[in-house]
Amino acid sequence: MENSTLFKQLSSRLDKLANLPKLDDEKSISKLIEEKGFSRRDFMGWAGAMTSMLMLPASFTPLVAKAAEVADRLPLVWLHMAECTGCSESLLRSATPTIDSLIFDYISLEYHETIMAASGWQAEHNLEHAMEKYKGKYILMVEGGIPHGESDFYLTVGAHGKTGEKHAIEASENAAAIFAIGTCSSFGGVQAAAPNPTNATALSNVTNKPVINVPGCPPSESNIVGTLLHFILYGTLPALDVYNRPKWAYGLRIHDNCERRGRFDAGEFVQQFGDAGAKDAYCLYKVGCKGPYTFNNCARQKFNQGTSWPVQSGHGCMGCSEPDFWDKMGIVHEPLGNRLYHTAFGGLGSDATADKIGVGLITVTAVGIAAHAAISAIKNPKV
Ligand code: SF4
Ligand code: SF4
Repeated sequence: MENSTLFKQLSSRLDKLANLPKLDDEKSISKLIEEKGFSRRDFMGWAGAMTSMLMLPASFTPLVAKAAEVADRLPLVWLHMAECTGCSESLLRSATPTIDSLIFDYISLEYHETIMAASGWQAEHNLEHAMEKYKGKYILMVEGGIPHGESDFYLTVGAHGKTGEKHAIEASENAAAIFAIGTCSSFGGVQAAAPNPTNATALSNVTNKPVINVPGCPPSESNIVGTLLHFILYGTLPALDVYNRPKWAYGLRIHDNCERRGRFDAGEFVQQFGDAGAKDAYCLYKVGCKGPYTFNNCARQKFNQGTSWPVQSGHGCMGCSEPDFWDKMGIVHEPLGNRLYHTAFGGLGSDATADKIGVGLITVTAVGIAAHAAISAIKNPKV
């Protein structure tokens, strides 16, 4: 689609959203920005970065800013299943508030167990009320793997003693869009790791509605907020890979954008943590980096307001945004080699690229790794 046509389409959607009643008249994004000590310039800088992350031209920046401004028109329900709450923490607990986390202060969060005051009957009533009042209009975000089974009652939640699975199914029924936040909700996560005593599974396995997966352990706040903004802008599903992850965030391997890639290509590997190569920022493949098998944008987006990311701080990627990474990515500090694997869902495994075209690519990588390992041993016998 032509950029100008897309611009008009997105503008018209945002105008329609802007005409919907505000869910809280007291709130405005400009007021919130000021209260938190940001300037309009900071906000527009953030909108520019988001525009580029969503793979839109820079001229779309005002639209992304407007999408953030109308974010309060869409009510959001956030459910917790079996998890550590790390995904919520990723968004809410940054040392200094970011504009990403500020967006979550601004949106109309109708239900979120970690931060709401209500509990027991009142909490359950609030959830039922929100689902009824905003039927067909609310965005559903679910965090955590979902224990399920005919006769099992793991994760019994709330005053009515419903299972988490039932809550998730009911909330999915009338949601305008459904996002599985984090690897547990996207793929089962650590809860589903062998022997999986609670029969935990992905949200997409318990609902027949389309689910967009935003995996990561945890996903970065930018990926969570970017997913929300994308829906506000387009009102439709983004382009997805074979694991239903948005391609704008998960379309490339960690390895493709890694700052140590030159070291990998030169056959310069850390052999053990603390060695001379580690001090010189050599490639971490041989000490277990799963970057060649993992699709995510951590190398570009980073964490903690863009300060750093695991490889930059000297530890390899653990493959946290891939299905079954707890079981299938092997021992954390050992290289995976060129072992192909399959997922519990019968998929292609992460050795396929996001859009099924890159099995050859990873094979080349595997061959490359073998070749580089040999070169490395010759070039740097003690490193
Ligand atoms: S193997 Fe890991 S550390 Fe090495 S270049 Fe790839 S992503 Fe970076
Ligand atoms: S670098 Fe790898 S393990 Fe770390 S957050 Fe990104 S995908 Fe997950």
